[in-house]
Amino acid sequence: DPRTVLITGCSSGIGLALAVKLAQDEQQRFKVIATMRNLAKREALEEAAGDALNRSLEIKELDVRSEQSIRDCVDSIPERHIDILINNAGVGLIGPIECQSIEDMQGVFETNFYGVVRMIKEVLPDMKRRRSGHILVMSSVMGLQGIVFNDIYAASKFAIEGFCESLMVQALMFDIHLTLIEPGPVVTEFEMKVYEDAIRGDYSKADPETADLFTHYYLRNSKAIFSSLGQTPDEIAEHTLRVLTMETPPFRHQTNQVYTPLTALKYADPSGHLVNDVFYKIVFQHDTLMQASLRAIKLLRWKVQKVQQGAKNLGFL
Ligand code: NAD
Repeated sequence: DPRTVLITGCSSGIGLALAVKLAQDEQQRFKVIATMRNLAKREALEEAAGDALNRSLEIKELDVRSEQSIRDCVDSIPERHIDILINNAGVGLIGPIECQSIEDMQGVFETNFYGVVRMIKEVLPDMKRRRSGHILVMSSVMGLQGIVFNDIYAASKFAIEGFCESLMVQALMFDIHLTLIEPGPVVTEFEMKVYEDAIRGDYSKADPETADLFTHYYLRNSKAIFSSLGQTPDEIAEHTLRVLTMETPPFRHQTNQVYTPLTALKYADPSGHLVNDVFYKIVFQHDTLMQASLRAIKLLRWKVQKVQQGAKNLGFL
């Protein structure tokens, strides 16, 4: 029997690509409930789904900021039976914090953090009763390593990483799998929306030096990073499908190998010097991600050698 998958935020980007990929699976392993906050935006998904629409893919309304909306959607599913929950809905926010209101910041947490918590609270008791299920969260490499001018977004992803780390062991006791998918840059409407808003933004609340760092250095450079190393939503969907069909799914899965060394630096040097140096060069000195990654690998190798030497000296190796 196909497994029932509920995905949030399917009107665009990764959510749309993933809903279509699972619904069009040749082995017909999935029955997809593709949800979105605003059903008026269903056209792109309907078009991409083609024949799968109303066969292996059903579209429903769900706003992750509303418990009632979540409850109504889950209650409409036969026996509330969801095998796989994919928390994809998310919003971005970039810029100097001087220019962001506390309400803007809380909005990011309402979706990226509490939105996921609300979803998990709704489906976890059913999964526990059935002693099966898989919960995935579209996190980000920014859930592992913050980036300048992404302060609040990164914090919201760190928050959900901490939540899932804590929940993971309990979930395992009930044979429920939990997976954080951690993409690097992905070229979607999301990224474009954030970028367009940023370009048009008013930074008069920040001092001119900060505004200049953001608009001239950060924005220009991040556009270059996205266009050189950005993955497509379809690549992220492909990675997610692979994780879904694994016998023992991992707790964490990064989709971009170039980025991985950059998320390991802080463990190699807990003082934070290495990581600050590498990210400073990426954002303000036009180091490409590839150059930065190669530098990170060298630094990591050097650190590992030092740890091994220490272990040898202590007689462990
Ligand atoms: P996107 O903007 O195309 O997709 C996000 C979707 O979430 C949209 O369809 C939006 O309508 C929906 N959404 C927003 N608020 C919602 C709410 N309250 N209820 C239901 N749906 C809501 O962008 P995307 O890149 O496809 O983002 C998907 C996920 O991937 C997000 O969680 C994002 O943080 C994460 N991510 C994106 C990138 C990237 O570079 N684009 C990188 C790493 C992780």
